[in-house]
Amino acid sequence: MESADVAVVGAGVAGSVLARLLEPSGYRVVLYDMFRRYRKPCGEVIPAAALDMVASLRLPVPDVVDKIRFFEFIDERGRTLREVEFSKPIWVSIDKTEWVNELREGLSLEIRTVRKLTDIEAGLVVDARGPFSSLGLKVTVWRGYVHSRDYVEKAVIIISREPFGIAWVFGHGDLANVGGGFIGVGDPRPLVYGMLRRLGLWNFLEKAYSIVTLYPRIILSDGYSLRVGESAGFIQSLGGEGIRPAIESAAALAYAIEENGAKISRGLLEAYDRYTRGLQTETKLANILLALSQAMGASALSIVGEEFLSLWLSGRLREVRRVLAALFTVKRRRGQG
Ligand SMILES: Cc1cc2nc3c(=O)[nH]c(=O)nc-3n(C[C@H](O)[C@H](O)[C@H](O)COP(=O)(O)OP(=O)(O)OC[C@H]3O[C@@H](n4cnc5c(N)ncnc54)[C@H](O)[C@@H]3O)c2cc1C
Repeated sequence: MESADVAVVGAGVAGSVLARLLEPSGYRVVLYDMFRRYRKPCGEVIPAAALDMVASLRLPVPDVVDKIRFFEFIDERGRTLREVEFSKPIWVSIDKTEWVNELREGLSLEIRTVRKLTDIEAGLVVDARGPFSSLGLKVTVWRGYVHSRDYVEKAVIIISREPFGIAWVFGHGDLANVGGGFIGVGDPRPLVYGMLRRLGLWNFLEKAYSIVTLYPRIILSDGYSLRVGESAGFIQSLGGEGIRPAIESAAALAYAIEENGAKISRGLLEAYDRYTRGLQTETKLANILLALSQAMGASALSIVGEEFLSLWLSGRLREVRRVLAALFTVKRRRGQG
């Protein structure tokens, strides 16, 4: 078979978006994935503004099943730590599986588990295997759904200090998307079940496990291939938001390839590095904030202001000055009080 100009290993968010964006350029792009249909479990929430980003890239826009305005943070015993209500939706809940499957439609997809990228022949090989090839701390995460309309427009985030991690309940239309994971815990399900039972939730559907990368290391290239999405380290480890960074890094790489050609070159690497600077900044800041919250536990939530929460939840940690000012403002107010 004629070898591809670009081989993208992993047809998740980043891989499928990249293949879609390269389509009009005339390159022969082949996607590889272990499964014909995308099936990785997820919390399925993205910042509301990410929908505009998807539309501006002329990609199919995901179906929105809920719009989240109310956030409640509680501790592992069910005690409320913080409640915030925003005037507009900060997050949207999407049908991620269907969206990725829609992105894949019409693309050249080969079903194969690729263990060594050097087994793939192509002008340019891109690693988009998500947490399965990223570098960082891997945490097992459990996810399910439950029939409930009590969480429409609402997200409940349960923060556990020991073991350190989170569980969640996210409004998802007639359902709620639930799950959780904790550092150092191989099977988080019993702990998550206990926390959810305290909220009166049981009888879970479509239960599944996957992994997420915390404290990711950013690696754009390993010499033979380029990396994109979570594989490259683009995931906000404070909370595990990885869908928007996957889309954004795929768009950055597509632009860099368009400008510099589909071969590893200094120009291509420099352009990809330049176009992902904002993502790199937010990833590094999220790693620092995660370390702080791991050290401080849930008490970190009592000292951060609403503006910080808004910047964090809406995926805008790269606005470092505003993020620091938001933290500083709280400190100053407390000092004055
Ligand atoms: C339970 C859970 C909940 C999450 N909740 C959220 C959330 O609510 N919001 C959010 O923004 N992020 C969330 N994340 C993170 C988010 O899912 C990922 O960061 C995002 O999907 C990364 O996109 P990606 O394209 O880089 O990788 P993925 O979407 O993981 O795609 C990787 C693809 O590579 C394929 N693959 C892997 N290994 C191989 C191989 N050897 N050969 C061939 N194919 C392979 C896989 O089958 C998969 O299709 C969650 C993660 C988990 C695990």
